[in-house]
Amino acid sequence: MTSAVDNILQKKHINKEDIQFLLSLATVDSERLFHYAHEVKTSQVGRKVFFRGLIEYSNICTKNCFYCGIRKDNKRYLRYTLNDEEVIEAARYAYDNNFASIVIQSGEQSSKAFTSTIEILLNRIHLETKGKLHVTLSLGEQTQDTYKRWYEAGAHRYLLRIEVSNPELYAKLHPNDLRHTHKARLEALALLRKTGYQVGTGVMIGLPFQTISDLADDLCFFRDFDVDMVGMGPYVEHEDTPLWEYRNVIPSVANRVDLSIKMVAILRIIMPDINIAATTAMQTLDSKGREKAIFAGANVIMPNLTPVKYRDNYLLYENKPNVKDQPDETRKSLEKHIRAAGDEIGYGEWGDSRHFGKRITNNE
Ligand code: SAM
Ligand code: SF4
Repeated sequence: MTSAVDNILQKKHINKEDIQFLLSLATVDSERLFHYAHEVKTSQVGRKVFFRGLIEYSNICTKNCFYCGIRKDNKRYLRYTLNDEEVIEAARYAYDNNFASIVIQSGEQSSKAFTSTIEILLNRIHLETKGKLHVTLSLGEQTQDTYKRWYEAGAHRYLLRIEVSNPELYAKLHPNDLRHTHKARLEALALLRKTGYQVGTGVMIGLPFQTISDLADDLCFFRDFDVDMVGMGPYVEHEDTPLWEYRNVIPSVANRVDLSIKMVAILRIIMPDINIAATTAMQTLDSKGREKAIFAGANVIMPNLTPVKYRDNYLLYENKPNVKDQPDETRKSLEKHIRAAGDEIGYGEWGDSRHFGKRITNNE
C-alpha cells in the first residue's frame, strides 16, 4: 500500500500544498522522506561532500538586521578586519589541504577601501594558488560594477541569502529603511546571475512570525529563481538583537532542527542537481545536525578557517560551535562526521553546482 508521502514523492511536480504537507509530517513519518531524498542525492550528485573553507573576513557591518549578532548597533563585539596576510594564509591552508574552494564572508560594507581590498585579495589568491582555488563570496549587496570587478578578479560563486521570500515577513525582520529592502535583495540576486556567478541563496528556518506556508514558499522561490546553490539553516536567537524578545514564540530547538532537515530533503527532491550546504547553524542546535543534513541531501560543508583569535567576535547567534578549534581539528572532526554519514570528501575537486553547468550549457 502506498502512503500519502509516497504519492507525493512519485509526482512529477511537487506543488506548494504538497510541500506544506511534507513539512508538517510527524518525526516518525519523515523517515520515508529522508530516505527518498538520500536516494535522489546518491543518484543525482553522488555521495561526495565538498569543503568550502570559510574565512570570516570582517565583522564590521553597516546594516542592522534584527536577528544578527554582528549588526551595526551591537556594541558588545570588538570590530575586526583580517589583514591581507591572514586571508592569504587561510587561503593557502585550504589550498595545501586540497579543499579546492574557500568562502570569504563578511558584514556588509561597500566603501571603496573595502571593495578594492577584496579585489586585490582575489587577484593574489588566484595568483598564489595558480587559479586552482575557487572562491565563493558572501559579502552582501553591492553594485553591479563591484560584482563585476570581483568576478573578473577570480570569484566564481556568490552567496546572498534572501533570508525569507515573503516581503511582509522580511519587513518585520529588518529596519524600515532603504538599506534593508526585499526588493534590493531580489535585484542583487538577479545582478549576480547576470554577471555570471554561480548563484546561491538561502533562508533562516524557525523565525518569529514565520509559518509553514512561508517555508513552502521559500522552497518554491528557490525553484522558480532556478538557483545553483542553497545554504539554509535554523534561526538561532541572539541576546543582543531586537528579535530576542520573541524567543518564546519560535519553534522549539528540536522542531527547528527537524524543519531544517525536512527543508533540505524536500529541496534535494525538487532541485536534484543543485549544491546544498549543511550549515553551521544546524550543528549549533543539534550536535548531529550536519550529519542529518548530509544524509537528507546536503553535499557542501564549510569548515571554519578564520584565525581563532577573531572568532569570538563573529558570533551571529548564541552557542556557535567549534569557535576554539584549529583548522586541523575541524578538518579531522568533519572527516569523521562525513564518513559516519556514509559519504566521502571531494578533496581536490571544485564540486561546482551541476545545475549551474547545465544552466550555462543550455543558455549557450
Ligand atoms: N552580511 C552578509 C549578508 O548578510 O548577506 C553575509 C554575512 S551574514 C552574517 C550571513 C548569514 O548569516 C545571513 O545571510 C543570515 O541568514 C545568517 N544569520 C545572521 N543571523 C543569524 C541568526 N541569528 N541565526 C541564523 N542565521 C543567521
Ligand atoms: Fe550585517 Fe549580514 Fe548580519 Fe545583516 S546578516 S547585520 S548584513 S552581517
